[in-house]
Amino acid sequence: EAAAGELPPDDGPRRSAPKREARQLLPEGAAALDASIRAAGLRLGPSTFDRLEKLGIKTVGDALRTFPYRHLDFTRSVPVAQLRVGQPQTVRGTLDRVQEVRMGRGGRMRSTEAVLSDETGARVQIVWFNQPFIARQLKPGMEVAVSGNVSAFRGRPSFNNPDYERLGEGQHTGRLIPVYHLTEGLPQRTLRTAIATLVERFADRLEDPLPPSMRARHQLPDLVEATRHIHYPDSAEQVDAARRRLAFDELLAIQLGVVARKRSWQSGGDAPAIEQRGTAEAFLATLPYALTGAQRRALDDILGDIGRPMPMARLLEGDVGSGKTVVALAAMLSAVAAGYQATLMAPTEVLAEQHFRTICLLLSGEAAPPLNGLVTLPFLPRPLRIVVLTGSTRSKERRDALDAIAFGGADIVVGTHALIQGGVEFQNLGLSVVDEQHRFGVMQRSALREKGGSPHLLVMTATPIPRSLALTVYGDLDLSVIDELPPGRTPIETHWLPPERRRDAFEHMRHEIEAGRQAFVICPLVEGSDAVLSRAATEEYDRLRLEQFPDLDDRIALLHGRMPAREKDAVMQRFAANEAAILVSTAVVEVGIDVPNATIMVIEGADRFGLAQLHQFRGRVGRGRHPSTCYLLADDPTPEAEERLSLVARTRDGFALAQADLELRGPGDTFGTRQSGLPSLHVASLLDAQLIDATRREAEQVLDSDPRLEAPEHQGLRRLAARVAENVVAEVH
Ligand code: ADP
Ligand code: MG
Repeated sequence: EAAAGELPPDDGPRRSAPKREARQLLPEGAAALDASIRAAGLRLGPSTFDRLEKLGIKTVGDALRTFPYRHLDFTRSVPVAQLRVGQPQTVRGTLDRVQEVRMGRGGRMRSTEAVLSDETGARVQIVWFNQPFIARQLKPGMEVAVSGNVSAFRGRPSFNNPDYERLGEGQHTGRLIPVYHLTEGLPQRTLRTAIATLVERFADRLEDPLPPSMRARHQLPDLVEATRHIHYPDSAEQVDAARRRLAFDELLAIQLGVVARKRSWQSGGDAPAIEQRGTAEAFLATLPYALTGAQRRALDDILGDIGRPMPMARLLEGDVGSGKTVVALAAMLSAVAAGYQATLMAPTEVLAEQHFRTICLLLSGEAAPPLNGLVTLPFLPRPLRIVVLTGSTRSKERRDALDAIAFGGADIVVGTHALIQGGVEFQNLGLSVVDEQHRFGVMQRSALREKGGSPHLLVMTATPIPRSLALTVYGDLDLSVIDELPPGRTPIETHWLPPERRRDAFEHMRHEIEAGRQAFVICPLVEGSDAVLSRAATEEYDRLRLEQFPDLDDRIALLHGRMPAREKDAVMQRFAANEAAILVSTAVVEVGIDVPNATIMVIEGADRFGLAQLHQFRGRVGRGRHPSTCYLLADDPTPEAEERLSLVARTRDGFALAQADLELRGPGDTFGTRQSGLPSLHVASLLDAQLIDATRREAEQVLDSDPRLEAPEHQGLRRLAARVAENVVAEVH
């Protein structure tokens, strides 16, 4: 996708000058930026326009905002003999050999291999994996420049998937050349020329959204200059300055959105000020353990918030097993003692049922639901009633539950997120706790408000989110972090095994199952759709049943994303009840299922998952009193992948892994852009703490003076924020 392939000229704009001066067809001034690129006088064929649209380039403005992900610096090529492994470099020379080759298992991957030599005669090997078509575009004897990271192959420097450019055609050489992400059938050169043309003609019509004073405060170039320079800079310094400016815009837009959302939640109505009567403390005193320091701090944050009439909006973040539930329950009991209702909502029925049992156990000492859901607690003046409400709650119970919720008989309501949809009315909801729901967004919040006035809101997540990211993506929530595990946990032993040792993992698994324990097998993340993923899981399931454990055939269960929710829940129940010994699953198992008897996990194709995700998976074992093991299997890992897997094996700290992941793979891959509603930032880095803080302060100041961005000088900001918000919302659904 990213290769700067140079395909033969198609219907590119170089052929002849446009006959008609197309600009005349476009509106005057900035309005031209909203015009279709098809009307912008580019001489491109319809199929090329289709491909541009596939890249998201529909208007002239879109083209100006399609930023290159890097620049080729052909001015700074080095002699082949001086290539250094591990650095991005450029060489120029002649191709000695170019051929299509077959690689990988069974020769299924078609690739291009080439050798280039420079004047000194030194040679370097180049491989373009999975890109056989390059062998048809490049021929021996051609002069080319090749640019990319240099890695070692059999001890010698080589290029893998570098960008390249044919030399001697007189175009685009000798300066910094932009490289854009491509789509199939769209040559780099065509895209480059189209964008260059539009930048040339239209960049000066861009209106700068930033007030001049803000630009001056942060020493940012204006938008026209930044746009010109990000595409065609004269120096690396210009690229840096342009990037910083454009990143500032993106982050500021996000901050305006989240700060406004937070303020709107907090000013939308009064929440009950829940006075502390020692209930939380009295409950904690009944537990067989003391809170960790981190749990204590988080609870104090929460109790402080709910003591005020401003609705709480807080994210409670803590690694799996860090003890978020008791913290939340202590706060819920405070609300109940003050005469309010509290809810705990989970993403699936299984998790809701599990939470219900956990709460029953914590309050009554028994996991079975108490009669009528009533629990008598020494520190409460009257019995407390807990009800559970999920999609499978039967009609009579459902009516009873709804009545109890509406007329105040129910103090604590545990359910799925469906609690805030449909016909549930609360009598006086004081606190709503939402577990593992990263997407608990604007819509759900307003739904919640309709159900129960202005409750306090606590969102819990086990995804370790670095602070900088939390401040952007979840910037509408205050943050409490439980960064400490309760003492005395048996650590999960993690090993990564090369292919020749995979038997060890399955032998260990058999051993554990014979001892009465259970196991998870996580299937590799294959490229492609849900259907492809599900097929891979089904294949693994068959392999285990037919080859690995034929004797356990009927005790192996399968879980994948294409199964209906009900069936998924049934499989989970079967596994939780130890009717199945092995659960084969795609990544859907990630969310907090608690099966303390599961002690072994095998992750197939572990090199394809992110570090934070592997950490989440392994948190499914090690939840009981037996020691647990997690095996990471990888068929053909690259040296980098081996390094990453051994990092997971060595590191128990989810935050450290998430941070490493973010640096290695970027936020979209780390947290799943779709899943988390993470904006896909074009230029900004979510690791740039300094710029994040700066834009946060600016957004707060702007909104202090003009909460709805109504002032004339803020109209640019308003449009900017709307554009970015649209982007974010579009990805959440
Ligand atoms: P999380 O939801 O954060 O993954 P849980 O709330 O499920 O974690 O807690 C995991 C386990 O640890 C539970 O069995 C809980 O009772 C126990 N636990 C919680 N806090 C402590 C503590 N301070 N000391 C010992 N055990 C604790
Ligand atoms: Mg939990």
